[in-house]
Amino acid sequence: MRWGNSKGHRPRVSSLFRRQVTILSLAKPMTHLTSLPHKIVYRSLTLAFLFLVTLSVSAQWAAPQEESGVPAYNAAPPPKGTKLPPLLTKADLWGADAQYDFQTHAYELAAKIPDVLHQQPCYCYCDRMGHNSLRSCFENTHGAQCDICLKELYYSYQQHKKGKSAAQIRAGIIKGEWRQIDLQSAAAIN
Ligand SMILES: [Zn+2]
Repeated sequence: MRWGNSKGHRPRVSSLFRRQVTILSLAKPMTHLTSLPHKIVYRSLTLAFLFLVTLSVSAQWAAPQEESGVPAYNAAPPPKGTKLPPLLTKADLWGADAQYDFQTHAYELAAKIPDVLHQQPCYCYCDRMGHNSLRSCFENTHGAQCDICLKELYYSYQQHKKGKSAAQIRAGIIKGEWRQIDLQSAAAIN
């Protein structure tokens, strides 16, 4: 749940709370009064209080997913002349990194869309170990061992083939659409 760390919303919720407290302190002295008009006033204040509680709870739930921690990516392709680390090739993989066709085939496809990968975040959060995009995962054997990197790779390639831009693919990745990739059949994606 991300609403808890949404700094922008805390003041709104707490100011609502302060209003509730004000209304409560207005309402309490009237509880001993029994005449009908006072009962109505008290009931409306109670309703208003409940309304504000509902409002403040729903304000928390409705907090948008801003600053929601999208992993590192580049907003544009690398500038011309930039030297990025080369991607590994199928021939560089062996042993546990080449156990399944979908592992080695991923590196074949990565070689076709390096600039697309450069603009995608990787949801295995490998940016914490210095990766700056999904491309980084295929510059070494990390991608072969990571089902998240692999699914994102195949998703990116499929969407690229459909004519989607890197930014559109990124929007799909952030939505989690890459999770639908079935790695068992992914080696057939071309
Ligand atoms: Zn990764």
